[in-house]
Amino acid sequence: MPSVWLFVVFPKQDAQPYRRLPFMDKSHIDGLATLEARFWNQMDRGSDCWHWMMCRTDDGYGRSYCQYGGRKKTLGAHRLAYVLANGSLQDGAPLLHSCGNPICCNPAHLRVGTPKENADDREAMGRTFRGAKHHFHLHPELTQPGEPHNTAKLREHQVRAIRAEHAAGSSYAAISRHYHMHETTIADLVKRKTWKNVN
Ligand SMILES: [Zn+2]
Repeated sequence: MPSVWLFVVFPKQDAQPYRRLPFMDKSHIDGLATLEARFWNQMDRGSDCWHWMMCRTDDGYGRSYCQYGGRKKTLGAHRLAYVLANGSLQDGAPLLHSCGNPICCNPAHLRVGTPKENADDREAMGRTFRGAKHHFHLHPELTQPGEPHNTAKLREHQVRAIRAEHAAGSSYAAISRHYHMHETTIADLVKRKTWKNVN
């Protein structure tokens, strides 16, 4: 009696889960030296977590840009930090924060997770952000009422950065979009009606 052998090959779980995704390689970043010099100064590295000081996405991550292969590429600041520190990263591969602080760009706190870890992470974040365990509930010292994107630690840095941007020719409108702050707040700050103590 003839026998039929059926071989079913199960793919090895998480062997190379992201290999079909486009790959971001540090060596294809245009103006790399300039970008690196600027990028690492756009965060506050005064504590273990390196807090991104520029634009944020609605879900709490830093937003950054670079010129990549001749085109402007927008990506999470933590992702760019990872690429600069480690050389490459697959687009779409989940990058997990060991510190649980989405705004942190310290490469030592970042690692590529598996798809399952990413799903768990998102679910946990969803729960976290809805509840009293929100990052800013746990760390009230990092928030200022009415100025959601300023943290107590970052404010002087930001004030200097905003004044420098204005001195370099950026309009109040452009700066206000960049920092998600009111134009009048930016104008007052630049004209030193506020933050007089910061040079
Ligand atoms: Zn961190």
